[in-house]
Amino acid sequence: MGTAIGIDLGTSNSTAAIYRNGKVQSIPIEGKSILPSVVSCKDDGQILVGNSAKSRLYMDPQNSMASSKRFIGNPSKVYHIQNKQVTPIDIAQYILEKIKNEASKYLGEEVTDAVITIPAYFTEEQREATKQAGERAGLKVLRLVAEPTAAAIAYGLDRERNQTIMVYDLGGGTFDVSILKVENNSFKVIAVDGDTKLGGDDFDEMIVQHLLHSIQTETGSNQYTEGSSSLQRIKEAAEEAKKELSDSDLVDIVVPDIFGTHIEMELDIATFNQTVQPLIQRTIEKMEEVLQSAGLSKREISRVILVGGSTRMRAVQEAVTKEIKKPYIADNVDEVVAHGAAIMAAHLSAPSRDSLPIPIVVEEVTAHSFGVDMIDVQDQQLKVFHLIKRNTKLPCVGATIGSTLRPYQPSIRAGVFRTESQVPAEEAKLGELKMPVSIRPYYVNVVSLFELDENGILTFSTAEIGRRSLLLSRYRETKEVDLDMLKLMIAQGEITPKKIVIDTNKVEV
Ligand code: AMP
Repeated sequence: MGTAIGIDLGTSNSTAAIYRNGKVQSIPIEGKSILPSVVSCKDDGQILVGNSAKSRLYMDPQNSMASSKRFIGNPSKVYHIQNKQVTPIDIAQYILEKIKNEASKYLGEEVTDAVITIPAYFTEEQREATKQAGERAGLKVLRLVAEPTAAAIAYGLDRERNQTIMVYDLGGGTFDVSILKVENNSFKVIAVDGDTKLGGDDFDEMIVQHLLHSIQTETGSNQYTEGSSSLQRIKEAAEEAKKELSDSDLVDIVVPDIFGTHIEMELDIATFNQTVQPLIQRTIEKMEEVLQSAGLSKREISRVILVGGSTRMRAVQEAVTKEIKKPYIADNVDEVVAHGAAIMAAHLSAPSRDSLPIPIVVEEVTAHSFGVDMIDVQDQQLKVFHLIKRNTKLPCVGATIGSTLRPYQPSIRAGVFRTESQVPAEEAKLGELKMPVSIRPYYVNVVSLFELDENGILTFSTAEIGRRSLLLSRYRETKEVDLDMLKLMIAQGEITPKKIVIDTNKVEV
């Protein structure tokens, strides 16, 4: 049996760890605990990953890609590199291959399996894409675990007390907030929320805008080419300044020879904190929302754990202290997520080998609600009927029964939605399903089934059911699909649902 490790595939940086001989240890990659999640392609086609790629971000920005995790699972995002098309999945694959190879070298044994962490708020397309990247990198993906859950595992493994933990995770590109109940070695997520478009990069961008504004005042020009090396230098200077402000009250930003001028500017912590306040406010609102959906008050939170590089910002720590309570900050914020993943990997790869002091139990929930659109018989409006509600424990299933709108209708269509609302908004639509049905002089019924697996990957199945079916009469009585009966009917071959893994594009079965 091969070796299993935990991998934190981060937006800015990735880390890896292993649980061995009763403890977790970080796996250095090229001698460093952190691998920049950057890929660069040289003129000769050679692909560089990590630090060597990061240094090319500035020299050769057109052929270098950072923060591509922001686009994973988005089928329309394609990079054009050296006449080749590269997708965010390819980039994740290169990073994972690098980690697999380096870890195998370091450990002296072939790494074959991994638990990979993902933001809790990742959609199923993003989860599927991450899993695919892992598999393409030659790894058996034992499980995708939410980053906050992994952090709580790493934090809570040796702590006996029962606790309600809030994990505030602000990385380079995403923000997640989760609430977990931890009892001994059982980790149950009870609510998650987040924003896949909020992270450290946005804080950098605030400083970049500040700097560009000053260049404009200086030169009167505002023609900045996106992707140019000058802009990249400004971005780097902005990130450096932001990091320095985590430790000092004043920073000097110097960028020589830029857009026909040179920048020399002081930025103090008060101005920075004020500039980024709208971003901090967004995280506070999410914290309040997640508390509400967990049905908890701030006082019921026993511990707040901060995860992700951006929680080093003092403005974040102050906001959390003011809103909830003084947070716990791990010594190794960058590694704590990979540590949790490593513990999970040890547990999943050798559950009977006593590799862990006590087996751990992890329960996660879905961060989104899913439904299909149907005409509401009450008011004849097209509405989304939720089959799976947000914060339901994974894995889970949900089903409903719909019918054709008129006799002799040859097919049925259903819009599949990921939304909290009942309004079938186009942007919340995952796909449109069109299925031929038997042409009958009466209404034909169709059962729709959503299944979310333990990784949060969605499968949608649908099947026609007979009008004398017991499932239908039971549904008419209770207004709920008897899931046990449905499973039995499928198992016995009475109905054969057409299964599809939801794609963001239209689907036909
Ligand atoms: P992660 O995705 O968790 O690796 O977080 C990366 C983000 O953390 C990037 O946006 C970094 O700029 C940010 N970061 C790293 N160190 C610091 C620091 N000392 N102060 C503020 N932000 C930081």
